[in-house]
Amino acid sequence: MATGDDTVFVNPPLRKAPHSVYLRKGGLEGKGQVNNLYFACRDCKTYIDAGYRWAYWQLEEAGIVVRGEEVNVEAVLAARDYWNPPQDGNSRWLCEEVFPPLRKFLHDHKSHQVVFGEEDDFAPPGDEYFDWMQVGYQPIPTPRYLVDVLGIKSWEQVHEYMEKQKTPPPWWEVTWLGDPSPQEKGRQKFEELVRKKHGM
Ligand SMILES: [Zn+2]
Repeated sequence: MATGDDTVFVNPPLRKAPHSVYLRKGGLEGKGQVNNLYFACRDCKTYIDAGYRWAYWQLEEAGIVVRGEEVNVEAVLAARDYWNPPQDGNSRWLCEEVFPPLRKFLHDHKSHQVVFGEEDDFAPPGDEYFDWMQVGYQPIPTPRYLVDVLGIKSWEQVHEYMEKQKTPPPWWEVTWLGDPSPQEKGRQKFEELVRKKHGM
């Protein structure tokens, strides 16, 4: 097991790079080069960061999970090496930011259909992307996140929120491609969710 190499801890620098999320959805050009790995609940359509290369080495290479397939949650929770990286500056993001919400996620969705993989492994390309919501470490704010987690009710508030983001999500930034554009599709989903939740 090649875990002596501390590059496996490296914080994911490309997480929110353009093309990482929306542009590899919906039949648009470009395959994401980012290799983020997630646990995803197919029943609730929520997903959560699994810890990038650390998850690859400690879960996938270790044979505890198989990409794109249903997860034995108990086996993941029992994976000692995964949950106990060497304590140093490189693993702080795992221990402090990735693991606490992830543990809760695995417990909450234990009896559901949970899969492991990249976004393409669970969220099929196309408009269904907007049915999904990321939670936990550095979630990408999709319309569901804006409505359900942040409690935003108007498109003006979405603008205000996005203007404060250092790196707004690709679906928000792409207003020049497609008809409707990703941002317009996001807006339609947002408005549908607000109507459902608040009857507005
Ligand atoms: Zn669930």
